[in-house]
Amino acid sequence: MCLAKKPVCVFPSACSGVYGNENLMDEMNFLSVVIPVYNEQDSLPQLHQALHRALGTLSLPWEIVYVDDGSRDESLSVLTELARTDPERTRVVGLRRNFGQTAAIAAGIDHAQGDVIVLMDADMQNDPADIPMMIEKMAEGYDVVSGWRKNRQDTFITRTLPSRIANGIISRVTGVRLHDYGCTLKAYRREVITGFRLYGEMHRFIPAYAGYVGARIVEVPVRHHPRRFGQTKYGLERTLKVILDLFTVKFLISYGHKPMYLFGGPGMAMMALGSALLLFLAVRRVLTLVSVFESPFFPVSLILVIMGFQSILMGLIAELQVRTYYEAQRKPTYTIRRLLNVEPRD
Ligand code: UDP
Ligand code: MG
Repeated sequence: MCLAKKPVCVFPSACSGVYGNENLMDEMNFLSVVIPVYNEQDSLPQLHQALHRALGTLSLPWEIVYVDDGSRDESLSVLTELARTDPERTRVVGLRRNFGQTAAIAAGIDHAQGDVIVLMDADMQNDPADIPMMIEKMAEGYDVVSGWRKNRQDTFITRTLPSRIANGIISRVTGVRLHDYGCTLKAYRREVITGFRLYGEMHRFIPAYAGYVGARIVEVPVRHHPRRFGQTKYGLERTLKVILDLFTVKFLISYGHKPMYLFGGPGMAMMALGSALLLFLAVRRVLTLVSVFESPFFPVSLILVIMGFQSILMGLIAELQVRTYYEAQRKPTYTIRRLLNVEPRD
């Protein structure tokens, strides 16, 4: 499946001279593979070797950024050893305690140099051998190359089935249709993933955010292996968290710039309904002399009007907060793909 159109031009050399000072953002200069690690001491040496084998075939310079997420096993010592023996390619960020996969990924991205970022798990369920193919795909002009575990090697009832349902729901709600949000192995251009902060367990929604800022996204099937080392850190309860996170993501994507539309719409509807009810009660009082105050519709109509008014006020407060958010950080309300004959501003 392809969600994107091919761009006009991928490599600057191929288009130089076409425009005066074209500021191309399709260039790829450096690859960082970011890997969160929590109690994965057994898989790390093999993972590191497999990464070297796979990335050694690339013409792009690269680094591996491991983030130790407060492991309680020997993962940090293993990583320290890897950093010592392979200082050119290996970076290690050790967090003070276990902050969760999302925070670990965010720390890795913050400390990575690459303009292309590949995220993957440390457990060898993802295969580093897929990375060159993903980079090649990206060179066709995509901003996100999303791995899809087409042949997933996890138990069906507790993992694969809930994941399929979740993927269907997330795709519908966010409008970014992917088969496999849960697969960590994905490649991103840095500029489409650094405009937002990652909170809670939200790493799986990175493609949805990227889609929101206008990224060109493509999905590619990747290999998936059963877990041979260590244990998974998650159970079925994750599905609930994913659904809750989805509310936040949907809100941010659809109403992040204009919360008044979310609060104001229902607010106006409630006020209109409440007012219509009050009007009906008043007309009935005039025509039939039935008291307005004795009708059960009276408190209902009042509640509707008050709630509607409150909702509109909440929308106004949210509008103020959005302005504070964007203007305090001088964040633009748009994202740029490229500039032609325009100097980029700081
Ligand atoms: N992970 C982490 N911090 C956590 C939980 C997990 O850094 O609190 C890492 C873990 O080491 C692995 C990746 O996140 O590299 C995915 O975890 P896991 O394989 O347990 O998830 P699953 O693939 O089973 O969904
Ligand atoms: Mg895994």
